[in-house]
Amino acid sequence: MKREKIGAIVLAAGNGSRMKSKTAKQYLPLDGKPLIYYALEQFQKSPVDSIVLVVSQGQEEYCRKEIAERYEFSKIIAIVAGGKERYDSVYAGLTALTGCDYVLIHDGARPFPDQEIIGRVIDEVLKSKACIAAMPVKDTIKIANEENDAIATPDRSSLWQIQTPQAFEYSLIKEAYEKILSQGASGITDDAQILERATGKCCKLVNGSYRNIKVTTPEDLLVAEAFLKDLE
Ligand code: C5P
Repeated sequence: MKREKIGAIVLAAGNGSRMKSKTAKQYLPLDGKPLIYYALEQFQKSPVDSIVLVVSQGQEEYCRKEIAERYEFSKIIAIVAGGKERYDSVYAGLTALTGCDYVLIHDGARPFPDQEIIGRVIDEVLKSKACIAAMPVKDTIKIANEENDAIATPDRSSLWQIQTPQAFEYSLIKEAYEKILSQGASGITDDAQILERATGKCCKLVNGSYRNIKVTTPEDLLVAEAFLKDLE
């Protein structure tokens, strides 16, 4: 039986302005290796067949030498420039990822998508065509108005914090991106939203992990270092 081809897009084209660092956050050292190394290592070890790495314009050659070749990530088939918004970068990745039946889209700023998470996401996407890693929220969440008054408290038991990988049948998400980008996207922060807007379809939630954090602000690096130490 033909095995379905699974690709991964790893996004590293953000400017990381919330990190307040001169070095772009995806290259900040974590235990001597650039942050982006860790997510790529997990996809390299996983059942994924090929990886497209999306980086800032002008960083393609540096990443080919210093990341793909240096760490022998043989599954990287292309390193392409991203765009202004995350969704522009994802679309660049989708265009470069050819010959795949399914795609896992991952924020390179999340260094800890372990083999269990990747496995759960792959199993689910093969069944339901669209799924996203997520965890139940731990805090109470409020909705605020423009004056910062807390005006509503959604029921916590139905709230999940959304992570990546987010996985889709390739043609489904590619067509959804094309439809939404041609209409002029705005305010879209994940891939599931693209599918919701384009088709009304919803994604299955798959357990991620509370360790699958996105390194966004300086204190997240301390947490990531602690998680890495714990893995040693
Ligand atoms: O900005 P945010 O934290 O949501 O970014 C999530 C991921 O998307 C990061 O890994 C970042 O590098 C990537 N990104 C991108 N292109 C952009 C903006 C963000 O690849 N234009």
